[in-house]
Amino acid sequence: KKPVIAIDGFSSTGKSSISKIIAQRLELVHLDTGALYRGVTWFALQNCCRADGTVDIGELFKNFDHIHLEFRNIGNELVLFLNEINITKEIRSNEVSENVSNVAKQAEVREFLLGYQRKLAEKGGVIMDGRDIGTVVLPDADFKFFLTASIEERTKRRYQELLGLGITADEKQVADNLAERDRIDSEREVAPLRQAEDAIVIDNTDMSKKETIEMILNHVKN
Ligand code: C5P
Repeated sequence: KKPVIAIDGFSSTGKSSISKIIAQRLELVHLDTGALYRGVTWFALQNCCRADGTVDIGELFKNFDHIHLEFRNIGNELVLFLNEINITKEIRSNEVSENVSNVAKQAEVREFLLGYQRKLAEKGGVIMDGRDIGTVVLPDADFKFFLTASIEERTKRRYQELLGLGITADEKQVADNLAERDRIDSEREVAPLRQAEDAIVIDNTDMSKKETIEMILNHVKN
C-alpha cells in the first residue's frame, strides 16, 4: 500500500516544491493545502472585502456555499480552480499573502477545508503539505516531516519563487510577511502551526532542495 506522508513547517521552507517532486518519484497525489487557504482568501478579497481592503470575515462565513475549490493535474502541474476559474497565479499575490493567515485562523474556515483534505487521503498514496497536517488533518499519517530554515534563507527562497511567477517583490516586505504569517499561524487557537510529536524535523537552511528530498525519501524507503 502506498504511504500517506505529512509535510508541515514554516513558510517558504520548500514544503510544496519538495512535496511535488516526492509525489512524482513515489507516484503519490500531492495536495498543497496552503493553496486552499489562499484560494478561500482570494475569493474573500473578491467578494467579501471591506473598504480598507481587508476581509470581512462574517461575510465570508455566509458564502462558503459559493466556494468550490478543485485541483486539476494539467501537464504535470497542479492547477487550482475556484468556481472553474484558474487562480494558480492570483493566490500568490501580496494581497493574498497579507490576508491569508487571518482567514486561516478562523475555525469555520479550517472546518470548511478539513473534509476536502481528509477525503483526498482516504485511499492512501498521498503527500500533503501545510501547517497542521501531521497534528490535525492526518494524525495517523505513515510519515511526518517538519521543515524549518532561517528567516533569511526563507526570504531569499520566497523572493525567487515570486520572481519566477513574474512578481517583483520588495525583500523587506517578503521578510515581514513571512515573519508575520509564522507568528499568526503559531499563535492561533485552532490547529496552530506545531510539529507533531512523531515528526522528523529537518532544518534545511544549508541544504539544497535535492538534499532535503533525498533525506525524506531515505526515511520513507527504510
Ligand atoms: O503554504 P503557504 O505559505 O502557501 O500557506 C499560506 C497560509 O495558509 C499560511 O501562512 C497559513 O496561514 C495557512 N495555512 C494553514 N494551514 C495549512 C496550510 C496553510 O493555516 N495546512
